Amino acid sequence: MTDRPNQGPGFHTLAVHAGASPDPATGARATPIYQTTAYVFDDADHAASLFNLQTYGYIYSRLTNPTVSVLEERIAALEDGKGAIATASGHAAQMLISFVLMQPGAHILASNKLYGGSLTQFTNTFKKFGWDATLLDPDNPADFRQHIRPETKAIFIESLANPTGVIADIAAFADIAHEAGIPLIVDNTSATPYLCRPFEWGADIITHSTTKFLSGHGNAMGGMVVDSGKFDWGQNDKFPSLTRPEPAYHGLTFYETFGDLALTVHGHAIGLRDLGATMAPMNAYLTITGCETLGLRVAKHCENALAVAQYLEAHPAVNWVSYPGLKSSKYYDLHQKYMPKGAGSVFSVSLKGGYEAGLKLVDALELFSHVANIGDTRSLVIHPASTTHRQLDEKAQIASGAGPDVVRLSIGIEDAADIIADLDQALAVAMRA
Ligand SMILES: *Cc1c(COP(=O)(O)O)cnc(C)c1O
Repeated sequence: MTDRPNQGPGFHTLAVHAGASPDPATGARATPIYQTTAYVFDDADHAASLFNLQTYGYIYSRLTNPTVSVLEERIAALEDGKGAIATASGHAAQMLISFVLMQPGAHILASNKLYGGSLTQFTNTFKKFGWDATLLDPDNPADFRQHIRPETKAIFIESLANPTGVIADIAAFADIAHEAGIPLIVDNTSATPYLCRPFEWGADIITHSTTKFLSGHGNAMGGMVVDSGKFDWGQNDKFPSLTRPEPAYHGLTFYETFGDLALTVHGHAIGLRDLGATMAPMNAYLTITGCETLGLRVAKHCENALAVAQYLEAHPAVNWVSYPGLKSSKYYDLHQKYMPKGAGSVFSVSLKGGYEAGLKLVDALELFSHVANIGDTRSLVIHPASTTHRQLDEKAQIASGAGPDVVRLSIGIEDAADIIADLDQALAVAMRA
């Protein structure tokens, strides 16, 4: 992995500058929050050509907004992608990309180690659209090949899974998807483009919950779909949304008209227009600010997480720690291959004291906040079996790495010694119980 996607500016330079220039009206150096719903047309012809997708410009903020556009360009640049679509949340991004690719009767293959909310979205809620999902163990990419059907539209994995620390062999999954003429979608939320750039390994589409490390301060919901622009949508007849005439735009064909921007244009002109899961300009502004320090923060998150994971692994109250940065992890080699700068800062810990110890630990921690979130500057903790993974039965909880004895940590950017001291006193309380 290189720090200079495309031989252009380096990662930290793009993180500060990509997509933004001084405001043409005022010279404002920070990107303004364009808190507007609509944009005045030059004249009637201009309005008509905007609505026909013949001219690029702003119409209505459900589709596009200048603050949101800066963020889209910035994250596309950080991932070395062709274009991006910002959404109201990470789940909205997953909805939007599925909506383009899927239709009633369509099928998707996904990792069974996805974030718990994604498992529920894919297997339960998407069923109501007539979309079928098969969940498989990401440790066996070849298994996915066996389960591809004629109606399968994509493979969906997480580069670094929240919270199990499972690292997917992205290149192997890309080969399997491409053999079948379908795209590989990678949720890159936990790794961020600072640690891992899935497009360099053959992925076609990236999704993010920008709610996590990209905004980074636990203050803005958001999601992103990033397109590599490299997938050939016309190689088969599996993706009619992009390759067949669109009645809502006078029979325009997105792939023919927009080429490697087809998915990006479709995502705004149809996806955001009709599903309406748009990112608010205020949230885009906060996320733009977050992106500027992404590399600095993630480096510190990773350094702290490794120190904490090493401390926990040696602790007598602990069964195991799922951090792929530990030499004992079965994902250590994949970590070295796909994200050598660090293994992220979200992982789980199994406590010998089981369910009760998990609850005690969460209650005894003082510096850590007990919240259902990750990727904040602050250290966070949660006991998945009693909260985020409550809807799953115990078998599914264990399969997704969130059994009753498991606590999830998201290590912040405080001083590592203070984080460890807090865990030390709380583990003592949990052991006494
Ligand atoms: C949080 C999260 C999501 C969902 O994102 P929201 O912004 O909460 O909708 C998806 N994938 C991963 C890996 C996540 O951590």
